[in-house]
Formats: sequence, structure tokens, C-alpha cells
Amino acid sequence: MSTRIDFVRNSEAALRDPSLHPAVRRAMVRFRELQRGVIDEIGDWQALREYAHQVKLHTLSYLDHYLEQLERQVAAAGGRVHWARDASDARRIITDLVQTQRHRTVVKSKSMTSEEIELNEALEAARCEVVETDLGEYVLQLAGDRPAHIIAPAVHKSKDAIARLLAEKLGVPVYDDAERLTRVARDALRAKFLAAAVGITGVNFAIAETGTVVVVENEGNARLTTTLPRVHIALMGIEKVIPRLADLGVFLTLLPRAATGQRMSSYVSLITGPRRAGEGDGPEEFHLVIMDNGRTGIQADSIMRESLACIRCGACLDVCPVFERTAGHAYGSVYSGPIGAVITPLYQGLDVAGELPFASSLCGACGEICPVKIDLPRLLLELRARVVQAGKASWAERMFVRGWVATMVQSGRLRLVGRVVRLLHRLAARTKVPLPYPFSQWTRFRDLPPPARASFRERLPR
Ligand code: SF4
Repeated sequence: MSTRIDFVRNSEAALRDPSLHPAVRRAMVRFRELQRGVIDEIGDWQALREYAHQVKLHTLSYLDHYLEQLERQVAAAGGRVHWARDASDARRIITDLVQTQRHRTVVKSKSMTSEEIELNEALEAARCEVVETDLGEYVLQLAGDRPAHIIAPAVHKSKDAIARLLAEKLGVPVYDDAERLTRVARDALRAKFLAAAVGITGVNFAIAETGTVVVVENEGNARLTTTLPRVHIALMGIEKVIPRLADLGVFLTLLPRAATGQRMSSYVSLITGPRRAGEGDGPEEFHLVIMDNGRTGIQADSIMRESLACIRCGACLDVCPVFERTAGHAYGSVYSGPIGAVITPLYQGLDVAGELPFASSLCGACGEICPVKIDLPRLLLELRARVVQAGKASWAERMFVRGWVATMVQSGRLRLVGRVVRLLHRLAARTKVPLPYPFSQWTRFRDLPPPARASFRERLPR
């Protein structure tokens, strides 16, 4: 059984790290600037979002049909489909495939689904050498660390920290320019690409109509992973299927703009089966592992189903004020930020992750930026309601809400309580005494500003 995710405690550790917030904030501000530039230039951005939303909802309603079509088309192209009910099934299938190879070096491109099932640990336990080839993921693998952001996994690491890490692990000098550091990693990785018998990737989209898997990236490492090794294994969740090749254009317009603020990703690979006779490159074997791992349960939930439309662009993380302060590790799961606060409780249960839907200011920015128009604030509120209905709200919270309701139903009470609270607030702000629990949750990391001279009600014209 998984341990309960204590977001409050985890975020305290993040808030105490003086280098974390500036590094994450810098990256998030940069992402937002880039996104704004390329989103604003598309006049029909809202129409594209709506289209993508409808395609995803339609596919989720007919998931069995499209997955079976995908299986047939992959087989027709010479590939093999493996169905995995859960994470342990997927680990076993992939480990078995790797173990049939004479050489057990595996190169991997970035895949959140493989992080979700802790694939590296399983392969290493089966005495396979696994090498992450995305630069950020490679850095994290060397550091024994985990991703802090869906698309920028090493966002929490400074350039200096990376330079020291590469020097320590690869025996090179401590370089101070990013290009040199990238070259060091690239040189180390080239040898692994050449030695690897198996390449493992995730899947951004899988097209049912043609049996094609689409892998989107910027470094070229996924393309090497899918072409150099003898065997390519692609791992996807059942929600990654889309019906037609004609739909792909919309997603390829939305994804890079929302993810990295690019008009187009540097490499978009469309892979249909293994290498055919006469082709110069590509794997001899192509395996597609299609995994459920809790997704059909979400698909059956008419309200939460929408969360499966996520294309993992990471944009909701970039605009979230909570994520910007805590970064990804505080969420205690590979999926962080607003989408993590929604899907982690769905995958792991409210007992484990019931705190996460409360890790949001409900400002609405995540719902506005989402390129597939997932109504994240609504889903967060729904999960909060489920936590309360399941009797998991704390005693203090229940008392507070009862008091709040009793106050709000009578204007005389509201006036009286308002006056008392403002008096205490002014006193606390002036004396700066530490507030007792639960107010200490606010003041431990923030100043308490004095209240306005006149309350909102007092300023209203009579
Ligand atoms: S919920 Fe939307 S914004 Fe967030 S990662 Fe998924 S697709 Fe991107």
C-alpha cells in the first residue's frame, strides 16, 4: 500500500530551499513569455482547443473501438501489441522483451508513463543497463533524482549543480557554459546508443487509423532511440490513442506552443511498424505496450473522464502559483501541478493523495491555458467535494465551515464577526506575533498585511 502524500510537509521542505524558488520561477516566467508569443499569433486558438477537446472526448467515449483498430493496424504494419492491465504487467512485459536480447543495454527517451510504472528500477533489478537519453532525464539519473516538471524534468537544478554533477560522475572538468555541458552528455550518450539492443520510448499520440505512434521531442535522442537499436518498445497509456491521421495536425499545433512556446517541435517522428525490406534504418522489431493502470476506472467516471484528455504539455504547471513555489517533488508523484493534483488522487486513491486537490488557489489559470481545454478548476473542486463526502476533511476544517455557514446566514452575525476579525487582524499585523494554528499555516512563510481601513461592506453605497 502506498504512503499518504503529505503535500503540506513536502512543500515546507521546498519552501526552505533558497535556490529552488528562484530557479523554478525563472523557468516558469520564461515558458510563459514564450507561450504567450506563439499562442497570440494564432487567431483561432480557442477554436483549435475546442476541436482538440472534442476529438479527445469522442475518442474516450469509443476507446475500445479505437484501441482495437490501433492493435489491428500495428499488427498489419508488422508490429506487436501487448496489453498491460497495470504497472506490474507493463514492467513484466517490457523486462521479458529486454531479457530475450543478448545485450541488455537499453536506451530510453523521456516518458512520464515509464516513470509512472518505475520501469528503470524494474529493468535494473533484472540486471539490464538503462540509460536515459533526454538531457534533463540523464542528469536526474546521474543524480539519483526524480523529475520536477512534466517537460522540463531538471528545472530545479542550476547550471552549476549540473556542471559539478557531470564532473563528478563522468570525470570531466567543471565546465561553466551550457553548450560544453551538453556536448559532454552527448559524447557519453552516443556510445550507449551504439551499444543498445533495445530502445524504449513513450508515445505522444497513437493513430488508430494507421497504427502509427507519434513521438515529439527537441533533442533528437528519441529519434536515435527509435532507429538505432534492434528493438523498439513504445509504452503508452490507453488514453493516448486518437482516431485519424487528419486529427494530428491540430495536436501538433497545440502541443509545442503550450509546452515550450515553440511553433513546432524540433523532431516529430511518425513510426508505423518496424523497418521494412529496403529501408535504411529503423528497428527489426516494434512492440507497442498499451497500459491501463487505473485509466478505465477514470474513463468510467463521467465527470473525471475529461482528465484523460491531457496531452502532457506541462502548461498548467507553468502558470500555477502553487507549483511555482513548491516545484514538482512536493506533489509526491510523477505527475505534478494542477493535472497531477487531479490525476494522482484518481490513480492512487483519496486515502493516499486526497490532499493534492487542495494544493491550488483555484485562480483558474490552469484551465485557461490548457490546450485541450480540460476544466481543471472544476475537476479540482469535484475532488475536494469527494474528499469531504468521504469524511476525510479535518476536524478543524469541518468546524470552520460550520462556523462560516452560521455566520453567513444572518447579516447581523456577519457584521459582528467581521468587526471582531478585523480588530484581531489589525492587532496581529501590528504586533507581528506568530499566529496560532491553523492561521500559522499562512504566516509561517508569508507576512500578514494589515487590513484595509474600511471593509468592503462599509465602502458599499447605502
Ligand atoms: S492538463 Fe492541459 S495544460 Fe496540463 S499538462 Fe495536460 S494538456 Fe497540458
